[in-house]
Amino acid sequence: MSASPADLIVTGCTVLVHDGDERIAFREDAAIVVREGVIEAVTTAAAAADLPATERIEARGQVAMPGLVNCHTHAPMVALRGLAEDLPTEEWFNDVVWPVESNLTGKDVELGARLACAEMIRGGVTCFADHYFHMDVVADVVTECGMRAHLGEAYFSSQGPRGRERSLEFALGHRGAAGGRITTALAPHAPYTVTDADLTATAELARAHGLPVHLHAAENRDQTDTSLARHGVTPVEVLDRTGLLDTDLLVAHGTGIIERDLPLLARTRGRTAVATAPRGYLKFAWPGTTPVRALRAIGVPVGLATDGAASNNSLDVWESMALTSLIQKSTEGDPRWLTSRQALHHATLQSARAVGLGGSIGTLAPGRRADIILVDLTGPHTRPVHDLAATLVHSARSADVRTTVVDGRVLMRDRELLTLDVPAVVGELDRRLPALIDRSHGRRIQEYDT
Ligand SMILES: [Zn+2]
Repeated sequence: MSASPADLIVTGCTVLVHDGDERIAFREDAAIVVREGVIEAVTTAAAAADLPATERIEARGQVAMPGLVNCHTHAPMVALRGLAEDLPTEEWFNDVVWPVESNLTGKDVELGARLACAEMIRGGVTCFADHYFHMDVVADVVTECGMRAHLGEAYFSSQGPRGRERSLEFALGHRGAAGGRITTALAPHAPYTVTDADLTATAELARAHGLPVHLHAAENRDQTDTSLARHGVTPVEVLDRTGLLDTDLLVAHGTGIIERDLPLLARTRGRTAVATAPRGYLKFAWPGTTPVRALRAIGVPVGLATDGAASNNSLDVWESMALTSLIQKSTEGDPRWLTSRQALHHATLQSARAVGLGGSIGTLAPGRRADIILVDLTGPHTRPVHDLAATLVHSARSADVRTTVVDGRVLMRDRELLTLDVPAVVGELDRRLPALIDRSHGRRIQEYDT
């Protein structure tokens, strides 16, 4: 270790680590030494006691774990939270969300992104994969507030070739921005709103420019059935025949993935990942959930997500972790499947891999970026602790996150946000809402037809 002061030392906490076989383990009375945004060492509190540091956080009674990753969201849609309730998917899109999104301005997106980042930092999310419009504005908000993000400018074929070109321009123009905290992807909306020709062109662009692709596919069983009836292929087979399975691909939801899709996904050797956002599936009363067990058996990483708050109502990845564990047990009829340690593996390494950052975040180890959250386990609802993994997944809540650090910078300390002004954002957003939610014009940005 260098003799000059470390930038940050977090000490006295229990640290969640991964062993050589990626099993979750806990190191007690430990310390994390951070220098230039990177974890330099995970050591004992005693060994770190005399090390000089510019900033020191005493974290006794807390667990340090890798920051959570929201692997699929539409952050600015927090502005529509609660606007389209108790509706089936088709009406949700056609009657509310897509008419309202035809009013969307860059300012709405900016305020929504600020509110979303505040919510995520408060809930221990340090990185999010965003798929939306006006993404240059979202990139500015990410740059300013200090989060890490994987961003893609969404497009439909109904926008003509310009949509696809803008997605490419955004991805090339912002990749590596904010000191490397921003990574980018091409972001076609879904196989049911983007033609095979556009998907094929997107796959070619991804390969030519070394870009990943982030899209919705096989979101639910209806989409798979409709695709089979109309085209004789499943949505995953569309991804295969358009070349997208030969790219680094992040698929949102996949609750409509069926048995015949599995060999195709297995062949991608982990280059295709799936993001699961179970709260929305329950709310839309979809008959199934992401087939996590089958995907794990063939080596597909499954990351945790919330989707947008217009369907999920929150950006709480902690809740996605607990729900994934519970729904997996229920749908598999097996209480031994998706243990708390497995849930934490999804929340850490698998989520990092899903957003293409498996080599730089997802575990607290020397050389990884210092994306760290501190979780307070002194509350009555988390005592006593017999099994720390179970306490984290099933007893702790996002509100127990006390401190959030990204790239070595403290973004929330003792629950106080340091880079975002929530009352100012909410005040300005509230004034804009009447214009944003007006549907009297009868327009919509797109038509939903599975
Ligand atoms: Zn989505």
